[in-house]
Amino acid sequence: MYRLFFYLILLFTILLQAQSKIQKISLQLQWKHQFEFAGFYAAKQKGYYADVGLDVSFKEYKNGVDIVNDVLSKKSTYGTSYSDIVIDYLQGKPIVLVANFFKHSPLVIVTQPDITLPSELKNKRVMGVEKSLKSAAFLMMFKDFDMDLNSFTNVPPSFTTKEFMDKKVDAMVAYTTNELYTLNRAGIKYNVLNPSSYGTEYYDDNLFTSRDELINHPKRVKNFRDASIKGWTYALSHKEEIVNLILKKYNTQHKSYDALMFEARQIQNMMNPALFKIGSVSVRRLRIMAEDFIEMNLLPKNVSLDFSDFVYKQRYYNTDLTKEEKNYLEKKGVIRMCVDPDWMPFEAIQNKKHIGISADYFKLLRKNSHMDIKLYPTKSWQESISAAKSRKCDIFSLASKTKNRLKYMDFTTPYLKLPIVLATRIDRPYTYNFYALKDKKIGVIKGYAIGEILHAKYPQMRLVEFKNIHEALKKVESGDIYGYVDNLMTIAYTIQRDFTNQMKISSRVNEEVLLAIGTRNDELLLHSIFEKLIHTVSEKQKQKILNSWISVKEVKETNYNLLFKILGFIIVLGIIFLYRYYILKKYNKKLEKLSTTDVLTGLNNRLKIDTTLQNQHNLFLRYKTPCSIMIVDIDYFKNINDTYGHQVGDTVLKEIANIFISSVRTTDIVGRWGGEEFLIICPNTNMEELKILAQNIRKKVVSHKFSKINQNISISIGLSTFQINKTITTIVKEADSALYRAKENGRNQVCY
Ligand code: GH3
Ligand code: MG
Ligand code: MG
Repeated sequence: MYRLFFYLILLFTILLQAQSKIQKISLQLQWKHQFEFAGFYAAKQKGYYADVGLDVSFKEYKNGVDIVNDVLSKKSTYGTSYSDIVIDYLQGKPIVLVANFFKHSPLVIVTQPDITLPSELKNKRVMGVEKSLKSAAFLMMFKDFDMDLNSFTNVPPSFTTKEFMDKKVDAMVAYTTNELYTLNRAGIKYNVLNPSSYGTEYYDDNLFTSRDELINHPKRVKNFRDASIKGWTYALSHKEEIVNLILKKYNTQHKSYDALMFEARQIQNMMNPALFKIGSVSVRRLRIMAEDFIEMNLLPKNVSLDFSDFVYKQRYYNTDLTKEEKNYLEKKGVIRMCVDPDWMPFEAIQNKKHIGISADYFKLLRKNSHMDIKLYPTKSWQESISAAKSRKCDIFSLASKTKNRLKYMDFTTPYLKLPIVLATRIDRPYTYNFYALKDKKIGVIKGYAIGEILHAKYPQMRLVEFKNIHEALKKVESGDIYGYVDNLMTIAYTIQRDFTNQMKISSRVNEEVLLAIGTRNDELLLHSIFEKLIHTVSEKQKQKILNSWISVKEVKETNYNLLFKILGFIIVLGIIFLYRYYILKKYNKKLEKLSTTDVLTGLNNRLKIDTTLQNQHNLFLRYKTPCSIMIVDIDYFKNINDTYGHQVGDTVLKEIANIFISSVRTTDIVGRWGGEEFLIICPNTNMEELKILAQNIRKKVVSHKFSKINQNISISIGLSTFQINKTITTIVKEADSALYRAKENGRNQVCY
């Protein structure tokens, strides 16, 4: 039954995960809190994030933060960045541009009124951080006027506008959103040299994430993007409201209302929603930016300006094959596929035919592509691996990406995700921390990705390789190895079928198997073809396939990604196991306790009381064993709830329950009969004894000092005793009418 219990816990964990709709993510901002991030604040405040199950935390910029690195190392889930995000991408960083908000940078050069052209800065004093002056937009603007950083004197910044106001400098680097406000307020005359007026419109405030995030959580990326855009739309049309929100919640810079409103209007200009869809990205613009960066030597000349992996698209994959891909397929003719011949329900070879989940999946792929994919039969998964290495087969139907496999295969986006668990003998303890097993011998299937995953994570763990799960579980049974690790579905399936009373699942490894299509890496086009192909199978179709193999009714989940759906199935699968155990070991105490206890008070519940009454009645009829009952109702309990609230009411119920427990004999059975009514069964007790007991309880309650309330509470009690010719219903009814009389007579008393 321990195992049953553990299944319960395990399944609950999974259930919780599957159902916990709130996912925590973080957004690293590129600067301090201000209207620059208004759309994100609005999305949070207005519940747009919560509506799609996201709990977003904002991380304000601090000196030294490397936003791109933080996002790539998962320290932050998303980030915003300046235009140089394009450089990061073209330098090979696996990042995705989710949305763009500012169509150009707020960074400008403010000049004294007599300077109206960049060329007039020659030999003048320009204040600002050298790094900002070196930004591509400025360099490009200078270049157009045959200038560079040596054409003027760079005065280190004072971070105030004072020098400029005092005319100690001729110009300064400024943000249209910030410093201009100060200058306007002081009534200072100035001119603005804005790079965007000279054709250098570089995207700023770019929302980006890692490629991993897009691959593993495509839905989340979409949701976060859509909600953020909605937030921006709201913020631009409700500036006052969001400025007030910033003042209240985010004003770390101590900006004034007017300064924030000024910033808001400038940002409206930079986003220009009348011309640009909020959040939109134009590849043409990215290309122009990149070309400028190349010209500024910020990128090498030979860099390929391919933005197809950079720009987020709702339908990320165009499923039409290119001419090149079509030609390749025509030439190729047959594509040979290796599968695992013994891995149900995922896949297997039966009578020389490919069956299982992946087989059904490939049926769809064939239909959608008209490709000639033929099974390359093998006797074991290891043989399949050898065949792939020696290029006898071109693809794996269902395999996870590992370092070793990447030497000869590429992998598509995963189409199945499974939790990994540990199976042990039934007498082993449950382990929540998998790391505690690091010096144990653990079985894995030879050639399976799980071995590689475990080895990388727990190098001390002694992995023992087996040909198949049966061999491995036999060794677990005999004690030669401690446990066996595989995905939950396979283990549950096999234990259920062949090792029901010897094995249990005793730990969950914090990893999951991601299964994808593998394609030989010496024929690159194969990868892009299959990557497109897998996106031709809809969630619904996938669902149907899984349904048919796991043959349970659909879990009522509508909007979640495949992982959750699979978890949902596993839960249902688990519940079916549970049910079987339950039937087998119906009288197990633990389970009984679970189903007979009242959650709030820990007393017996109504069901338990009913069966006990029935049993006692049988004993009474057969052996004339006396038995009496009392029904207790708390006086004026509604008032307690009304005065102190329902929660305090609950604690009062618990305390009263404890008084009952401590007042009765061990043979008496106390149960919760209804809301604030209790029934106590006292076997071997006649009416006289019962009266004494009842008075005793009544006194104890009325003199009890409750922890949460400052008043005494009384109870009324009705008594009755078993008699021949009276049914249980009658006996209970008698106690109930006695209780009624006790209430009528003024409460705080015992009647019979
Ligand atoms: P009396 O019995 O003396 O006639 O007055 P009463 O105010 O106790 O009236 P009655 O027994 O009809 O009302 C019971 C109230 O107990 C109603 C309900 O709000 C409250 N109650 C029932 N179950 C719970 C519970 O689980 N928690 C809390 N806090 N209150 C409950
Ligand atoms: Mg009542
Ligand atoms: Mg009452």
